[in-house]
Amino acid sequence: MNTSIDLPEIRLKRGKEESLLRFHPWVFSGAVASMPDELEEGRLVRVISSTGETLGVGHWQVGSIAVRMLDFGASALHPEFFTERLQQAYDMRKALGLLRADNDCVRLVHGEGDFLPGLVVDLYGSTAVMQAHSVGMHMERAAIAQALTELPGIGAVYYKSDTTLPFKAGLDPVNGYLLGNESEALAVENGLLFNIDWLRGQKTGFFLDQRENRALLERYAHGREVLNMFCYTGGFSVYAMRGGAKRVVSVDSSAKAIALTRANVELNFHDDSRHSAIAEDAFKYLADMQDGAFDLIVLDPPAFAKHRGALKNGLLGYRKLNARAFDKIRPGGILFTFSCSQVVSKDAFRAAVFTAAAQSGRKVRILHQLTQGPDHPVSIYHPEGEYLKGLVLQVE
Ligand code: SAH
Repeated sequence: MNTSIDLPEIRLKRGKEESLLRFHPWVFSGAVASMPDELEEGRLVRVISSTGETLGVGHWQVGSIAVRMLDFGASALHPEFFTERLQQAYDMRKALGLLRADNDCVRLVHGEGDFLPGLVVDLYGSTAVMQAHSVGMHMERAAIAQALTELPGIGAVYYKSDTTLPFKAGLDPVNGYLLGNESEALAVENGLLFNIDWLRGQKTGFFLDQRENRALLERYAHGREVLNMFCYTGGFSVYAMRGGAKRVVSVDSSAKAIALTRANVELNFHDDSRHSAIAEDAFKYLADMQDGAFDLIVLDPPAFAKHRGALKNGLLGYRKLNARAFDKIRPGGILFTFSCSQVVSKDAFRAAVFTAAAQSGRKVRILHQLTQGPDHPVSIYHPEGEYLKGLVLQVE
């Protein structure tokens, strides 16, 4: 890591220092007044105000977010910067009670929420799966991996950034082990076992952000007939089974996801005839489904709007999907419905679900308003970090 105080300087336009003084971690390209001509993408830079005052240091990148801030006030990074930040992130998860013998998977680093913009690290047992979302973090990957292994219990670091780095940067990131090579892929979440496939799975292999919401579903599951739509690894299904569900049906359009779900249910509930899994499109399944077949439905689709331009269609998708569920859920049923689209606000999602409810003409009450778990913290100065939204609804 280049920690010298001799960093290239990026000077901001007048008045553009305000958000940084409030710890917002991004400098937008429009705020930049001047910078060196030939600046290597991903370089650590010093950001100064129009009057030359040092505001902090961060990674420079081509694009609308020009600098992702790593430290405020300082004119260079401390040599132990990554070690210290990672230790703080680890200590916070430990204090939350998320690192226990019966819960050994956790999001260890959640980008801006852990004051490490551009970096995501998920921990599965002794393997850390690391994703760089910025060129700067990609360039620091070796130092970060080294710092990770200084934390208790981490023996391997797998780097998986082929889909997260900006493709315009022209990098050729190869997924692979930076340190160690552990094939053990069995993680425990709240005492339930999950096979995690970080090599072939989506993202880092598992959606840790739903942990608290899965635990909540368990409390509602007793005696119910549960439909887990968009099941992926079957997280909600396994919790529903432990909660005493009468029947659980897991649906996903991907045959691979259905195989993962079956394996995870089998791991925890050997030969349990309450569970079945079907590879089918969500909209088709809901359209063909018998009225009142289920009294607990989970809808946890992929992001319907992945960028601003897709917002309108995305909201339409949420409305249509939820309308199908409202039409079919048994009277007295409970609907867990989610959106993980970062560009869809909490209010916009709620409005889409409201419209779907109104179309169905049924009485609907909100029982819980959900979000990502506390190992996905959101800096209060960076509300963009809050992406998961969920509602638990009772449908009369
Ligand atoms: N609920 C899961 C995460 C869901 S990820 C969990 O708790 O871990 C979204 C899933 O939706 C993916 O597995 C993807 O294969 C599936 N999917 C995407 N489009 C779909 C569609 N049209 N119908 C059914 N499943 C779909």
